[in-house]
Amino acid sequence: MNIGRILEALKGQFVGSQKYRKVVQFGFLTLVIWIGIEFSIFVRQLETDMPASARPPGVEAFLPISALISLKYWITAGIFNRIHPSALVILLIILSIGLLLKKGFCGWICPIGLLSEYLVGVNRFIFTKQISLNRWIDYLLMSFKYLLLLFFMWSIFIGMDANLLVLFIYSPYNRVADIKMLKFFSNMSQTTFIVLAALILLSVIVPYFWCRYLCPYGALLGAVSIFSPVKIHRNIDNCIDCRRCTRDCPSSIAVHDKKSIISTECHSCYQCVDSCPKKGTLSMSVLSKGGIISARIYALILAVIFLAGTLSARGLGLWQNGISVREYRFHIKHLDTPLYYHNRGKVPHYDPGRFDFTKPDKSSRY
Ligand code: SF4
Ligand code: SF4
Repeated sequence: MNIGRILEALKGQFVGSQKYRKVVQFGFLTLVIWIGIEFSIFVRQLETDMPASARPPGVEAFLPISALISLKYWITAGIFNRIHPSALVILLIILSIGLLLKKGFCGWICPIGLLSEYLVGVNRFIFTKQISLNRWIDYLLMSFKYLLLLFFMWSIFIGMDANLLVLFIYSPYNRVADIKMLKFFSNMSQTTFIVLAALILLSVIVPYFWCRYLCPYGALLGAVSIFSPVKIHRNIDNCIDCRRCTRDCPSSIAVHDKKSIISTECHSCYQCVDSCPKKGTLSMSVLSKGGIISARIYALILAVIFLAGTLSARGLGLWQNGISVREYRFHIKHLDTPLYYHNRGKVPHYDPGRFDFTKPDKSSRY
């Protein structure tokens, strides 16, 4: 147990660039918790036939597969479906962040990223020496998240034709995918519990286990981030080769060795910038010697992208979904029937007419 390193790490959380990052991370965590509470109340009200409050559309951030399917439907059919529109809006916002600011979503916004950082703290509390995996084992494990990403991309962009897309998007399963997601965690099965516990344990033993080896969302953002104009640049003339940047990089990137960090693993955490004793040697910037983006400006750009994206979606009517409370009440009563399941994206056949809730009274149909 290395108390000195733990104290140093805790102190480091609130100095330099890290204080801006922590404000953004905890700000988004609060938002996620708030959305989770609001959505749980909404579902409870549906289940108990109480008057329902507003459903928070932001909950659709937790439906990335549905969002990818909507993305393909939007690209191929030109239709921005109203089943989970904010899922697609949020995916587009996150992809824009990846394209402009590298993996800023992982390093500044994602609550799992934040949790992983604190699990590293637990690691330091328990172990005096961090486990570092052999380079080839590291590469091999890292390939899993890309294989998972490939599987999802292949299944959606190659495997789903126009008919399957429509069938999935308007299926009973997809209409309540948000409620199913909530139930997945609130009525956790023993298997789910064991898997989650194992992932937490592995993330304590091997820092950032989930983010580095398994998260397909991170893999997607890593691939997109290659094209980002903004990245960490090192001024070689100033560098004294002390290697503190490399020592402190949570993504194990050999920063001291590079002129620019193109790595798909860089999540824009500014840790290397903060660690460098020769100020101005490392910078997050557009050019190698100019266009510096300080952590404060980075935080501001993230907030502007998020606000601009969500407010535009609201203005265009692409934020709230088109599922009425009446329809939700119907679905929630049948949630455990086979119609509300899917097998690798293939949903059971259903009669679309049964789910047309636009007419005043259709209760007799069920
Ligand atoms: S290179 Fe720098 S900004 Fe990127 S992950 Fe490593 S420490 Fe963070
Ligand atoms: S911490 Fe700064 S000075 Fe030291 S090796 Fe890295 S870039 Fe060079």
